[in-house]
Amino acid sequence: TDSKGLISENTKMSAELFEKAGKVIPGGVTAHIKHIAPHPLVMEKAKGSKIYDVDGNEYIDYLLSYGALIHGHGHEHVQQAVMNQMETDGTTIFGTPHKLEITMAEKLIDLYPGIDMVRYTNSGLEATLLAISTAMAYTGKTKLAKFEGHYHGGYDQVLLSVNPDLEQAGGEEAPQAVPESSGIPEYYVENTIMLPFNDLESVERLLRKHANEISGLIMEPVQGGFIPAEKEFMDGIRKLTEELGIVLIFDEVKTGFRVGLGGAQEMYGIEPDLTALGKVLGGGFPVGAIGGKREFMMTTAVDDSRDILTAGADNTNKKQSVFHSGTYNGHPTVLAAGLATINVLEQTGTMDDLFTKTRKLREKLEAVYQKHGLTMQTVGASSIFNIILTDERILNYRDMEHHDANLRKEIDYELLKLGIYTKPMNRYSMSTVHSDEDIEQTVTAHGEAIRRVLN
Ligand code: PLP
Repeated sequence: TDSKGLISENTKMSAELFEKAGKVIPGGVTAHIKHIAPHPLVMEKAKGSKIYDVDGNEYIDYLLSYGALIHGHGHEHVQQAVMNQMETDGTTIFGTPHKLEITMAEKLIDLYPGIDMVRYTNSGLEATLLAISTAMAYTGKTKLAKFEGHYHGGYDQVLLSVNPDLEQAGGEEAPQAVPESSGIPEYYVENTIMLPFNDLESVERLLRKHANEISGLIMEPVQGGFIPAEKEFMDGIRKLTEELGIVLIFDEVKTGFRVGLGGAQEMYGIEPDLTALGKVLGGGFPVGAIGGKREFMMTTAVDDSRDILTAGADNTNKKQSVFHSGTYNGHPTVLAAGLATINVLEQTGTMDDLFTKTRKLREKLEAVYQKHGLTMQTVGASSIFNIILTDERILNYRDMEHHDANLRKEIDYELLKLGIYTKPMNRYSMSTVHSDEDIEQTVTAHGEAIRRVLN
């Protein structure tokens, strides 16, 4: 960045708009994750694999709205489905049951081994929240086990040790829950059992020690969308949670439809008790869903013997009923976009092509870093990966200490100037519409970015 606090001389309009936004929006962004120093790039247009900022710069987009846009921007099939749905129904939303809710549920049940029933939410956050409440209601226990470095949405219960300062985070084998935000009641710190990822021995010890109190274990099967759980680790987790009466929750908000049509549970051949979905499921619209085994999912069923309005207030007669509501749950337009997205993914060869393309980009990037004498590995699963500047093995949050984050950051800022878009330090998500030419351009830009940084 230059002396005027610009990402480049060609991003002045973005900087001006950011300044203007800061007067009416705290910090100038509507989500913490959208913040980039010295200013975010304010986007104006997009099509396919490309995104354009207000200064008219073109970028190949690997952020893809944090992985949500698996078919890139403005996919014809998805847009058409949204238009058709609004036209056919004559409205954007009924606020009552409608047919698409069943169609999508049947689709998810068909694709996800661990899903027998489905409820909808409006975000991934709400889906993990509902899954946790369900686990607590079902087991009658009040503690939650989660992994250090795993993100499940921005709320008190899970905003613990996502990206903790290691000075405060305790020993490797028994990490401490560190709040990621001000305003998180101590209650959640006390009621969270923090676990080290890919360390079965420590996990077993901690789960056994607290088994009588732990309602559920929530995890990203692929941490941050790029660090996969080891197969034996996953097998161990499934066995232990079953034995100890702990509800196993897979947060597949990132991995759903991205590591395979049936998510990580299909990839690992493991059936969780509950699954949280989001992102790709909404085809670019806000969405979430929770699915799972019938016996757990029925916890959210409305008890017919009581009026819906008393749900949540009347505790007699509903030992295991979880209140779940939402004005926009199962939104028809969103489900139409999601179904169209899945339909395209289901076309023969689409997933394979996507994975082949991602592998190709990873291999070419590894080669270009090697050529410039930089130690680098790509770490990922199927259509998502990250660029890690170390040759140490990366199996969990603490292993990322080996990664040369400063160098990566410098390269990422150069990449922005060279028309490659991902948020600095973020992972890469591929889409079905990235072309061979995009891949070539991306690899060339990395070579140039490395040259500039090393000089
Ligand atoms: N869980 C995981 C694994 C996620 O990656 C995210 C979002 O990045 C969420 C939950 C929260 O989803 P949302 O942003 O839709 O609330």
